[in-house]
Amino acid sequence: MPAPEKAPAACLIGWPAAHSRSPIIHHHWLHRFGIKGGYSIEAVPPEGFAEFVQNLSHHGFVGANVTIPHKERALLLSEPDERARAVGAANTLWYDGATLRATNTDIEGFINNLDACAPGWDACAEAVVLGAGGSARAVVFGLLERGVGPVHLVNRTADRARALADQFGARVAPRGWEALGELLPRVKLLVNTTSLGMKGQPALEIDVGLLPAQAVVADLVYVPLETPLLAAARARGLRTADGLGMLLHQAVRGFELWFGQRPQVTPELRALVEADLVAAR
Ligand code: NAP
Repeated sequence: MPAPEKAPAACLIGWPAAHSRSPIIHHHWLHRFGIKGGYSIEAVPPEGFAEFVQNLSHHGFVGANVTIPHKERALLLSEPDERARAVGAANTLWYDGATLRATNTDIEGFINNLDACAPGWDACAEAVVLGAGGSARAVVFGLLERGVGPVHLVNRTADRARALADQFGARVAPRGWEALGELLPRVKLLVNTTSLGMKGQPALEIDVGLLPAQAVVADLVYVPLETPLLAAARARGLRTADGLGMLLHQAVRGFELWFGQRPQVTPELRALVEADLVAAR
């Protein structure tokens, strides 16, 4: 009798093993598809990361998500695609035969969430992106790939905005915070990629009343679920895309690569993760 096939399992590698919503998301989809697979959180310290990733399959995994503090180092231990290289960080690893490949799914998470929440958003020519950290790179890559530009990159630390603009070329313009008064009345997409507005962080002071009536506002922060920025935009009747939607959409590709089925982001899944976020408040 042939040996029974082992159930495929993926994991999230981080240090420390922070509370994550990824197990809820992947367990929900495994159940939906009737796949007897698994998804666990693996606490791996920096000194053990290279060994763990180089022997991922021996540790019993068909692939993994990677989170803080390992996302940059994962690039050096795998074959990263253009997206992971452009963002400078990988969040998803999978095997292509014996080769361990890496990508960054924040790009499609951001774009697919916008498509779902605000169809037609890409009719905008210009956009303002607040922030110049890791998530801003993913957002800018996605916007440029979709044909949006110029992207005005507004960041507290000018050098960081300049470095990111240099990487992406002339369609990205580094701007100071003081330029918002002039920019907001003419852009139809505003994206917050800073941690401002997040629980425990200072508020994001910005007047959404300056935006045109057709503008779309996206916020990557998802704790709280409705940030003051999104609340103000909705109160003005603007369309919005929230950080939880991005988080759910970025998980789709990993699941497909590991388990061979493309899952959907449904209201049922969203309600499950929302309940967990509310319970953690
Ligand atoms: P990061 O690399 O640390 O960048 C943080 C950004 O916030 C920088 O541009 C920083 O500006 C700015 N910032 C922080 N405090 C500020 C302050 N007091 N005033 C003005 N600017 C400030 O972080 P990240 O990885 O890009 O993540 C940013 C946010 O996105 C976090 O809230 C994270 O949870 C969220 N996120 C969500 C998703 C999702 O799926 N929804 C995915 C990724 C990230 P300086 O350069 O001047 O320091």
